[in-house]
Amino acid sequence: VRLIVDPSEFQAACAELRAAGHRLGLVPTMGALHEGHLSLVRGARQHAERVAVSIFVNPTQFGPNEDLARYPRTLERDLEKCRERGVDLVFAPEVVHMYAKGESTRVSVGSLGETLCGASRPNHFDGVCTVVTKLFQLAGPCTAVFGRKDYQQWKIVERMTADLFIPVTVRSMPIVREADGLALSSRNVRLLPGARAAALGLVRGLARAQGAFIEGMRDGARLRELALLEIEGAGLEVDYVSLVDPDALTALPDALPERVLLAAAAFAGDVRLIDNVVLGEDPRLPETP
Ligand code: AMP
Repeated sequence: VRLIVDPSEFQAACAELRAAGHRLGLVPTMGALHEGHLSLVRGARQHAERVAVSIFVNPTQFGPNEDLARYPRTLERDLEKCRERGVDLVFAPEVVHMYAKGESTRVSVGSLGETLCGASRPNHFDGVCTVVTKLFQLAGPCTAVFGRKDYQQWKIVERMTADLFIPVTVRSMPIVREADGLALSSRNVRLLPGARAAALGLVRGLARAQGAFIEGMRDGARLRELALLEIEGAGLEVDYVSLVDPDALTALPDALPERVLLAAAAFAGDVRLIDNVVLGEDPRLPETP
């Protein structure tokens, strides 16, 4: 695995791979790699002979009171995992490389970035799309793979590449979970034992609503209430629980259609957790203890 920190060197390395006739897969991450990230590497492999992983904790997607300073950073271990999985390039720039002195340009996402996570994290998705655009410009034509754990992010990036004619194919992979159902997240290492147990309330809430949906319930308000009961009952502080159109991310009538995104965010202590399930599409969530 080749570690690159300089953007122009990464751009040249990607161009070189393509010139040699290889398709390139790109997996953008913030590091502290886990099996969720590594599933994206496997997904990239299915569409590309060469895979690049970027590791960059992007400051512009964090709000002033968020966990930028506390975000876990484990570059040595990340490199080892990339090496084991046969990743070809790891791009791990410093902040000054990605945001050079005098920089001022931002991508503005618009309405797709104002619902769900965007409602409580203003400008978050502008920051995401700004850094993802930079990464796409450096990588050049490729298949970029995103996790559906960050469902809204995936949809927004997909929209952005279409809107801005960026020659990148965006693909997504399903959420990877712990055996007990908790969605893997780099932030999980910051959960204290009590909060780790409470965190399960999130997937339990989604599973409860999914079960009811499978049994035929199409009343949006009642499904939401079922999820909320579990999540709040576990002692989590709810940010949102929403039922929206899985593509437009817009509100749905109370009599739900046959395909619905149920997405939720909640705090376990000071750790913000997100999870989601597409009702009418995703397989049944695991039974949680
Ligand atoms: P992050 O490092 O948290 O910014 O995530 C980088 C990429 O990995 C994003 O596309 C995430 O959606 C994806 N990802 C993170 N956790 C998971 C998970 N548990 N399952 C699948 N993909 C994930």
